[in-house]
Amino acid sequence: MDEVTLVTGGSRGIGAAVAVRLAAAGHRVGIGYERSKDAAEDVARRIREQGGTCVLHQVDTSDAEQVDGFFDVVKEQLGAVTGLVNNAGITGPLGRFTETPVEVMRRVVDVNLMGALLCARRAALEMSTRYGGNGGAIVNISSGGATLGSPGEYVHYAASKSAVDALTVGLSKELGPDGVRVNSVQPGMIVTDIHAAMGDPQRPWRNPERVPMRRPGQPEEIAGAVAWLLSPDASYTTGAVLRISGGL
Ligand code: NDP
Repeated sequence: MDEVTLVTGGSRGIGAAVAVRLAAAGHRVGIGYERSKDAAEDVARRIREQGGTCVLHQVDTSDAEQVDGFFDVVKEQLGAVTGLVNNAGITGPLGRFTETPVEVMRRVVDVNLMGALLCARRAALEMSTRYGGNGGAIVNISSGGATLGSPGEYVHYAASKSAVDALTVGLSKELGPDGVRVNSVQPGMIVTDIHAAMGDPQRPWRNPERVPMRRPGQPEEIAGAVAWLLSPDASYTTGAVLRISGGL
């Protein structure tokens, strides 16, 4: 196997679990982090202890130059890129749409949508047979909120994630002939730090009756699906939006 996959937001939560899982499946992994260097180093240590290969790189995915820098470093150190997991994402504090500050909305769109666009663009340039690549796969981490709309919590975030799913569908059609598959995963309620950042660390355990499986998910339960979407077992899967939410 000669897979080289970039994972944005690989320092914590879902991205960290994805990076570890992909490394266990034989991918050489480029781990992007923004502020959590220690956590990213911890992820890298776990991967190396398993006998895996990875590089760490600080990148704000909303910045085109930094995204190019990330891809350049990974290519130079690990080889031709075959995969991207567009995972980096933020929500801002929970609140009604009309009470959400404009600057919070703008930053959420910048990171969740613009970041995903910039990374997908560079990945497409690296992997498309049209530009001399060998094909590959992109997985965009969206959110169940993209479908549910998340009223009263973060409509702006749901809108950004819905746009990520539109990116998946459109890009899968544009890149299908060029050997690049593009899919979305919509996580439901997953236990990570993101809920503390929303101002409610206990959120995954509130109202368990709204989740048919009556529990929140763990990052590893998303990582398995991402690994599958990047694997040859998913060789005919593109343009799919896969919700993994315990039925939520
Ligand atoms: P966490 O808050 O645990 O982790 C977020 C990750 O994104 C961190 O690694 C962080 O890096 C990184 N990140 C944040 N901003 C940037 C940026 N500007 N540039 C690069 N990296 C950045 O979140 P989760 O693991 O929960 O979320 C991962 C993805 O899953 C997100 O896209 C989120 O929207 C989505 N999701 C999560 C759900 C959940 O219930 N947890 C539900 C639905 C979707 P660092 O710490 O280094 O700054």
